[in-house]
Amino acid sequence: MTKNDLLASAGDSSDDTEFYTPMPDGYRPGRTRYVFVLGTVMSGLGKGIFSSSLARVLQAKGLAVAPVKLEGYLNRDSGTLNPYRHGEVFVLDDGTECDMDLGTYERMLDQDLTHRNFTTSGQILSRVLEKERRGDFLGRDVQMIPHVIGEVKLHLRELALTTRADVVFVEIGGTAGDVENAYYLEAIRQMAFEEGDGKCCFVALTYLVAPPTLGEQKSKPAQLGIKRLMESGIMPHLIACRAQQPVTHKVREKLALYSGVPFERVFSMHDCESVYFVSDMLRGAGVDQVVCALLGLDDRVERFDRGAKHHAWDTYVRRVRQASPSVTIGVTGKYTSLRDSYASIIQALEHSGVHLGAKVKIEWIDSSDLTDDTVAERLEGVDGVIVPGGFGTRGVEGKIACVRHVREQHIPYLGLCYGLQIAVIEYARHVCGLDRANSTEIDQATPDPVIDVLPSQHGVTDLGGSMRLGGNDIAVHPGTIFSRLYGEPETVRLRFRHRYEVNPAYVERMEQAGLIFSGRAPDTPIMQVLELSAEQHPYFLATQAHAELTSRPTAPDAMFLGLVRAAMIHAGRTIVDEPQGVRPGQGEPQNCGS
Ligand code: GLN
Repeated sequence: MTKNDLLASAGDSSDDTEFYTPMPDGYRPGRTRYVFVLGTVMSGLGKGIFSSSLARVLQAKGLAVAPVKLEGYLNRDSGTLNPYRHGEVFVLDDGTECDMDLGTYERMLDQDLTHRNFTTSGQILSRVLEKERRGDFLGRDVQMIPHVIGEVKLHLRELALTTRADVVFVEIGGTAGDVENAYYLEAIRQMAFEEGDGKCCFVALTYLVAPPTLGEQKSKPAQLGIKRLMESGIMPHLIACRAQQPVTHKVREKLALYSGVPFERVFSMHDCESVYFVSDMLRGAGVDQVVCALLGLDDRVERFDRGAKHHAWDTYVRRVRQASPSVTIGVTGKYTSLRDSYASIIQALEHSGVHLGAKVKIEWIDSSDLTDDTVAERLEGVDGVIVPGGFGTRGVEGKIACVRHVREQHIPYLGLCYGLQIAVIEYARHVCGLDRANSTEIDQATPDPVIDVLPSQHGVTDLGGSMRLGGNDIAVHPGTIFSRLYGEPETVRLRFRHRYEVNPAYVERMEQAGLIFSGRAPDTPIMQVLELSAEQHPYFLATQAHAELTSRPTAPDAMFLGLVRAAMIHAGRTIVDEPQGVRPGQGEPQNCGS
């Protein structure tokens, strides 16, 4: 049987062939190119940053790119994971709760992604088992190879087909040698064979240790890591070496020798100041040219100079490099010891800072330590405050004390999701005189449940994937600060992830006491944005949405921009430049899966 015969019988579940590899209708093997990014030695190498930066460079050459992350864990999605263990839960417009790397991809490529850009072992296995129950494999024993692996290949090919991407960037979670991602490696090994020569490129990310006692880089762990990958039948085309310092010529030679990868394809990808510099580093080292040559993409690359579309991006990267005076934003939270838990907030603050010519310094404030008595001292020197999203009761009274302080002391404030709910509780207690006002998430027996469970959540028992999730339109109240910030549109689309809301029964009372609800859900009485007027406070805004998720380098979120601008005024700084063409978190209209 030739390879074409094999592919012709693909998807045939009869006993006659072992070659079960389901293809979506209309898929043509070899049309789409695939770049597989794999980790060796250890996790946390920044595979997502590498992969998205390389995709960004190819996108700038006029190629259509689509990223996808394959996670090894059995959870159906990231929604039930503790951010402290796994970084923030990122939410896509279609409601997918996924890994924080998807945030890196969206920001780097300025694209809105979908469920097709992410999958987990849990999803892959569920799909196979659903098919088994339907009888799709009748007569066969269902096996890791070919059925589960077939499902992985199907997922990648469906993404390629729906996006019409020239290049699909596949990031495999975990490290070569992990039990849980071994079948992904087998799937992509098979895929490279099926797609044909020169259609797939394997990139191994590795790490060069440099023990301070030795004072030099050692390549042994990297050699062993790559060897482990080769034991899975995958020969990398490229090695990207992560290291603290530039990787020495000698070490690159050693790696080339031991792995059989040509020296010119062993690149140093050492630490740099900002993730936004990585694409320049890749271009400077010629990684993009090597990949295009390996994948025969040169004829698809646009010949003209990188194009006006990328001008805004280049300006952004240039401005990140420029030193600027700093402004301090306090972020009160529960997971403040692990920055990954608040990755998108950090990014959104940086986007706004860069646009306004300021370096935003973040002061992490553990809300469990805050009280009315300690808050003034703790917030000394802070020019603005964010209370981010959160769940449960820990640290809540500290957050309320914090919001009271910033409201009374006229310190700029932005509340995100829980941060809106906390602001409502604080206002109800200290302005409306409802001393024991609370959220029913915190106190079921409160006499004034100013925050209560969403009507759609009554009767929901499963915790996974059951919140109010994803992109929703917010009807903007004209004449408000919220409206002005976004350029006076009728609606603004932001992303949500919550179970509780402002209790509609208290809205009128709070409005009479001066709180302005400037954004609501178009058809239901869900309050989405609140504010105090400019006469009452220099900047006091909160949203039920996660505005941080849709902030992009070239289109910072307007509420973050407003906060940083107000904080700069509070700190007595000069605002260098007002940003041009800010869009409320909407990506470039590129098709990236449906
Ligand atoms: N715990 C709150 C709710 O479920 C807020 C959620 C959040 O901040 N993401 O509504």
